[in-house]
Amino acid sequence: MKPTKTEEQHIRELELSRRLQMLEAEQQAAAEAEKSRLKELHWMHCPKCGLALTTQQYGPVEIDVYPQLPGAVAGRE
Ligand SMILES: [Zn+2]
Repeated sequence: MKPTKTEEQHIRELELSRRLQMLEAEQQAAAEAEKSRLKELHWMHCPKCGLALTTQQYGPVEIDVYPQLPGAVAGRE
């Protein structure tokens, strides 16, 4: 049985709204990624000296260290 024109139209509209939703989700994901990238840019620098920081796991504890200064812990220099 051939779908009527209205059915075809309906399917097209469904397809279109599905694509729009996917596009919206993609844009949201991109915006979130950009947000966390910016956050990281700010966060991963010492507020005191502005040097780049990296997070290291010491057992159950996460600490911020300077990649260029082995042994130095952020905020304690
Ligand atoms: Zn510092």
